[in-house]
Amino acid sequence: MRVTVTVCDVCEDAERETRSWQIRDVSGGVTGNVDLCEEHEQPLAALLAKAPASSTVKTKTKARAAGATPAKARYRPHGIKVTTPEEIEKKKREQGA
Ligand SMILES: [Zn+2]
Repeated sequence: MRVTVTVCDVCEDAERETRSWQIRDVSGGVTGNVDLCEEHEQPLAALLAKAPASSTVKTKTKARAAGATPAKARYRPHGIKVTTPEEIEKKKREQGA
């Protein structure tokens, strides 16, 4: 049995549920992935709420269509969710490993 716990990159508190964020510097071509708890995702969530939703990808239906039931599905998304196709592929690989 293998248990994987994703902790917040800021507080590293294992008791907190986290969400994965991808931050991209479009002009610089730099992309970073971070996992943040509800508290520490607030600055990003606030920014995202003001930003155009052009790059927002909702994965809920896609994940269901693919028959995927990731362990992380237990956490309840609240509000904005940012997941890129690259992130989906990465998760698929992690689950397959
Ligand atoms: Zn945190």
